[in-house]
Amino acid sequence: MDIALFGIQGSGKGTIARAVCTKYGFHYFETGGELRKLASQDTPLAKKVKAVMESGSLVSNEIVMEIIEDFMESLPDDKPIVFDGIPRKPVQATTFDALMEKKDRDFMGILVEVPEDMAMERLTKRRVCSKCKSVYPADYKEEACEKCGGELVTRSDDNPESIKTRFHAYFDETYPVIEKYKSENKLITIDGTPDIETVRDNVFTLLEEKELV
Ligand SMILES: [Zn+2]
Repeated sequence: MDIALFGIQGSGKGTIARAVCTKYGFHYFETGGELRKLASQDTPLAKKVKAVMESGSLVSNEIVMEIIEDFMESLPDDKPIVFDGIPRKPVQATTFDALMEKKDRDFMGILVEVPEDMAMERLTKRRVCSKCKSVYPADYKEEACEKCGGELVTRSDDNPESIKTRFHAYFDETYPVIEKYKSENKLITIDGTPDIETVRDNVFTLLEEKELV
């Protein structure tokens, strides 16, 4: 059974998705990362994606589905996939469901739920390494990056205005997807307000209790 992780930016969803993959050997799928990977390849799909990106257009939902299908077909084993941030909007949910059915796969959604004001606080206070781009949460007290010693800075788009715009996209587009899966009993909600290690461990416990791993 695959897993689709949902959560507002600042929920810790990405960190948790990676932790699940590391602990249980799941495959990790995140659209941005796959696009970057394709940029260095020379397959017909990679060429198509490059052409779209070079034209300055957004990658269409059809192409995103092609990327997911290609990803599924390239897997070296039958370990499940953790989808980080997919499906992001209702039209994508419809095509994603169809693709899953076509590939004879099933998934459970997990929503890492964090109130908007807490997510805002986490995002405005986080810092990023100016050299290696590692992200550090508000409670990281050191001045320098622990991986490379680089200076930690606040990202220019981590200001309340830009964050609110990103939140709006989540509430307008992704929230209906979450509601849909909730109504289909395909979504479990987990409290994302404790520190990230606690949330991560709670997700591990949940996956084990529900026999999803
Ligand atoms: Zn660094």
